[in-house]
Amino acid sequence: MSEKLESWPYREASKIIDHLQRAQSRSAKGQSDPVLFETGFGPSGLPHIGTFSEVARTNWVCRAFSELSGRPTKLIAFSDDMDGLRKVPENIPNGDMIAEHLGKPLCDIPDPFGEEESFSAYMNAKLRSFLDSFDFQYEFVSSKDHYRGGVFNDGLLRILECYEEVRNVIIPTLRNPNRDEWSPFFVVCENCGKVNNTRVTDVHPEDGTVSYVCDQSFRGAEACNHSGTVPVTDGHTKVGWKVDWALRWYVLGIDYEMYGKDLIESADLSSKIVRALGGEPPAGMFYEMFLDENGAKISKSKGTGLSIDDWLQYGPLESLAWFIFKKPEKAKKLFFEVIPRSTDQYLEARSEFGDTTDDTERLDNPVFFIESQSIDTGEEITYRSGISYSMILNLVSVLNTDDHDIVWDYLRRYDDSVDDDAEVIDDLIDRALRYYRDFILPTKEFQLPDEEVMVGVEQLRQFLAEYDGDDPEEIQSAAYRAGKDNDIKLGKWFRSMYRLLLGQDRGPRLGTFIHLYGTRETLTLIDERLSERQ
Ligand SMILES: [Zn+2]
Repeated sequence: MSEKLESWPYREASKIIDHLQRAQSRSAKGQSDPVLFETGFGPSGLPHIGTFSEVARTNWVCRAFSELSGRPTKLIAFSDDMDGLRKVPENIPNGDMIAEHLGKPLCDIPDPFGEEESFSAYMNAKLRSFLDSFDFQYEFVSSKDHYRGGVFNDGLLRILECYEEVRNVIIPTLRNPNRDEWSPFFVVCENCGKVNNTRVTDVHPEDGTVSYVCDQSFRGAEACNHSGTVPVTDGHTKVGWKVDWALRWYVLGIDYEMYGKDLIESADLSSKIVRALGGEPPAGMFYEMFLDENGAKISKSKGTGLSIDDWLQYGPLESLAWFIFKKPEKAKKLFFEVIPRSTDQYLEARSEFGDTTDDTERLDNPVFFIESQSIDTGEEITYRSGISYSMILNLVSVLNTDDHDIVWDYLRRYDDSVDDDAEVIDDLIDRALRYYRDFILPTKEFQLPDEEVMVGVEQLRQFLAEYDGDDPEEIQSAAYRAGKDNDIKLGKWFRSMYRLLLGQDRGPRLGTFIHLYGTRETLTLIDERLSERQ
């Protein structure tokens, strides 16, 4: 069956199967040991939509892999809390106090919010509650626990053994004039506690130690000039970023990790390092970044772009998941206007998922991934009614209402199967009312038709006054004829109708909409709007 499955998580899962074959000879991992997936988190800031999408996508690959291989999996959410703080984030309190600790590992800096034992403990707690709120299954792992708890010791000693090989991977990529002095190890200064101000002056592989001096001016702060010799193990040192990534892969035996496009080079170097250590790099892929409405990269420190909370105001979580699921290799603009379309595409997929009994089709439908928890608990995932989110938005727009029940009344009259999907639709109405209030209402501009279009409006009025059928197709073709018969350019005709009825340039298929709103009601609405002419 696997060769018929086309969704990208299956492509990734196949890569893992190949990776496991390559890694077999080097690893003690057996068939019953979980295959390990990793996602990385930098606790210098709060989790955001990028964190969510990486964890969600990795979860989907896990699911595809389980489907193809039947093997157990585990997702590790790794927080690099030994990393030194390079810059005070703009969106935290007590910035001046935090500034004094620049250059120290995040786990040794006080919590600016005063709630947890350290800066990174606060961010890690936020990460966990964030991931828990979406019911992700994962194991939280912290860099601090692994360095200071000795889990990384063997790997660190191995790096010391392969010191020159590791240096030879990184040094050609450095532009720094002192690059020949570069060392993978960064000592946490025994005197000032900073990790960004030290440099290694000598290595002693024979006893597993390095000598260092704390004399690097970091961000204008004077270094303490302490020097000494420390073991590389037990958290006295940490290794620089690309080596750190390789160290995790090597020690933990990570089988799969994806990363943003900005980390392609890092992933390549980390792969070379893990091979130099005698390990096998994980399978993985890169994903493109989100862009804002103008096509610029979203900056989390400047707070541009849409947050998850923003999205959830106007679209269900599943519509966000849909947006993230689609083509991860393409850069995507993330702004409010994408929400209705993503929601409708999700509803269509949900309807297809519910309608088919073909296993391959179901497994290949994004809903199989997006709704995994509900599917696994045996819940039936369907969407039977023909009501789209855009239709609800248009209805709210013409009703110009904030009354949930009035919207329901109209929908029930339109489609008597809506109650089958009551829970989904009820939720969509709430979000549509909010979307209308915040985005549509402020831009609404009704416009009366010109003389040319009025002839067509008159013909459509006549039709609606006499029509007693109940068929959106008949209404659509009458609306079409009203423009066509009177030689009105169809683009102009429909745009004029949307401006008259909805105060917008674009709108739904007119036949569907008039059927939904009601022929009598549409007639009254046209007359009300036209009466504003006098
Ligand atoms: Zn120092």
